[in-house]
Amino acid sequence: MTRTHILGFPRIGAQRQLKFALEAYWRGGDAPALRDAASALRQRHWISQRDAGLDSVAAGDFAFYDHVLDHAVMLGALPKRFGFDAGNLTLAQYFELARGNADQPALEMTKWFDTNYHYLVPELDPDSRFDGGVSALVQEVEEAAALGHAVKPVLIGPVTFLWLSKSTAPGFDRLRLLPALVGAYQRVLQKLEKLGVEWVQVDEPALCTDLDSEWLDAFDFAYATLSHTPVKLLLATYFGSAAEYAPRIAALPVHGFHIDLIRAPGQRDTWLECMGPDAVLSAGIVDGRNVWRTDLRRALDVLGPMHERLGERLWIAPSCSLLHVPVSLDPEHHLAAELKPWLAFAAEKLGELSILSRALNDGETTVASELAAAGEALATRQRSARVLNELVRSRVAGATDALAERRSPFSARIAQQRELLQLPLLPTTTIGSFPQTGEIRRARAQYKRREIGAAAYLQRIRTEIADAVGRQEALGLDVLVHGEAERNDMVEYFAEHLWGYAVTAHGWVQSYGSRCVKPPIVYGDVYRPEAITVDTARYAQSLTSKPLKGMLTGPVTLLQWSFVRDDQPRAVTALQIALAVRDEVEDLEKAGIRVIQIDEPALREGLPLRRSEWPHYLAWATKAFRTAAAVAHDATQIHTHMCYAEFNDILPAIAALDADVITIETSRSNMALLDAFGAFDYPNEIGPGVYDIHSPRVPETSEMLGLLRRAAAVVPPERLWVNPDCGLKTRTYEQVEPALRAMVDAARQLRAELL
Ligand code: GLN
Ligand code: ZN
Repeated sequence: MTRTHILGFPRIGAQRQLKFALEAYWRGGDAPALRDAASALRQRHWISQRDAGLDSVAAGDFAFYDHVLDHAVMLGALPKRFGFDAGNLTLAQYFELARGNADQPALEMTKWFDTNYHYLVPELDPDSRFDGGVSALVQEVEEAAALGHAVKPVLIGPVTFLWLSKSTAPGFDRLRLLPALVGAYQRVLQKLEKLGVEWVQVDEPALCTDLDSEWLDAFDFAYATLSHTPVKLLLATYFGSAAEYAPRIAALPVHGFHIDLIRAPGQRDTWLECMGPDAVLSAGIVDGRNVWRTDLRRALDVLGPMHERLGERLWIAPSCSLLHVPVSLDPEHHLAAELKPWLAFAAEKLGELSILSRALNDGETTVASELAAAGEALATRQRSARVLNELVRSRVAGATDALAERRSPFSARIAQQRELLQLPLLPTTTIGSFPQTGEIRRARAQYKRREIGAAAYLQRIRTEIADAVGRQEALGLDVLVHGEAERNDMVEYFAEHLWGYAVTAHGWVQSYGSRCVKPPIVYGDVYRPEAITVDTARYAQSLTSKPLKGMLTGPVTLLQWSFVRDDQPRAVTALQIALAVRDEVEDLEKAGIRVIQIDEPALREGLPLRRSEWPHYLAWATKAFRTAAAVAHDATQIHTHMCYAEFNDILPAIAALDADVITIETSRSNMALLDAFGAFDYPNEIGPGVYDIHSPRVPETSEMLGLLRRAAAVVPPERLWVNPDCGLKTRTYEQVEPALRAMVDAARQLRAELL
């Protein structure tokens, strides 16, 4: 019989129960209440898996904050700077590792491969020991087994664990820790074996990245050693193709492999050829990264030859953990009736696995009606008027490279812009959002509950905007913003106003810790039926004689932070979105807005896992941004903004965006990024963030002046802007006002020095 399993289930809960339990605990709640909430969630998720007919349930996919942190704890590999004993770690200490304490900053957080999930980066050095610590995994396995479930524990594999970690000792090669680390894994596997576990899933998604021979050798060593433990290992790869390494990996002494046939369907045959005669192959055939209902017919066509060849050595699963999709469609009462049957969130994906396994095991006739229903949903989707928009299609077809070119080169544009804007040397500005006050949140909640009407809501938002503009004038900033009071989220706000986009009520996905995002869904050709931000921008500009920046989210970020169509290339969807943003740029300009910012914080994270695919991605992403921006006349100044990432390796692509000004996060890296910008000789204007808005701390004038002087040493002062790192949404006015006052002061002082 073909077995069904999943690589992991969303841990946050359909109603974000984990988020609320965590936040209650952090506010001073008790640990037992948090543990109970977590246990209730796990039990519910296991029951969903069992009820869907899966052959095993996943354990170890849960985490209070992050599963990579849980591995560091379980292995005993905690940074010494905290002084914690991994073997006796308390819940409070666990959260200090994740969130920092009075003496120590938290572990660094970074993106999990190319997802929007953030993990905590384990810190290793030559003295790292792996003596073992508190193991949530073992407890979870016991808990599931006690409830009568067939349990398949899920672990991050040793090589990927090392790959995800960082060395805190300069020049230290963390691969040297491999033998000790593998020893710790052996002890974990022995414990699991004692609990009666048969199979353990060992995730090695690092195999879908570029690996050199030392890293590949690490797999040989690690799995040769682990093969001495009596459990069966299923080595799981996902987020891409591992075909390049298949001949080598398939020869490892493990009992099975999982491959991602959604991201990399082409690797099927390579794996079939390489695999030994006894190994299991788990086919990741249901999309774990997206929300579309599976084309069961196509899935069966892929699985058929595998089933024939492998028989019961074929397993089926989602492509990766379901951590990256919302829990269930059930509470989505407001989704269009036509749209809902096209979708499958985590719970619905479990049902799809069950249908596929019945089709393979008992014959397709036993699930004929289910297959027909899935086929019908797909057919409706393919011909729906909601999806296809001829106008958009023909516009995209006509979107030549010329459409992505500003009228004149930067040097000519900037001369016109300076003439029009009359800004001082080192102009000051902010990134867009101002503090989300209690008043804004109240107004939004009342409007949502229909306690106030649209007119009253608009009035209250306008009051906030007027307040933000007034404060900026008083502070003496040079280019003002309206403050984004009307936006709950920089992506969802636009999604609500664009055709081809749907927003969900409860489609939450964990981003990090208790933080969740609700990515909207691009289901059809994207079109902007009418202006979105123009009234707001016009109103804000009417309140001041200073230039006011129109504020837009860029096409790549709108794409990256959404669930997008799987029936056309991402590049095409990006271009459609770009044309919608372009229309908005054009209308803002017509309304007299002279500076327009198009935010692209997600540009970097869209980079493919394999470097060979970077040029293609960067080419279409750049074209999308430029297509959105290039409608602007020369005298209209286009800004962009980026943050939360390493930009050093994509500087040429950033320059190729050809924005007149880029404001960019730098203060956390203490301006290290600037050296790269200096060395690269970034051609246009640049505002390195001098105020770290991620901290409640109010920086001093002298501090920001120091950063600015460093910036002025690499960037010619006539091309330098002065601004914070990012939007001010998460801060309070008590923090923001003195910080901005000090920032404006710093700019004035440097100006005086330079003139
Ligand atoms: N304009 C947005 C803001 O200020 C930018 C947010 C971001 O970069 N993530 O909030
Ligand atoms: Zn930002």
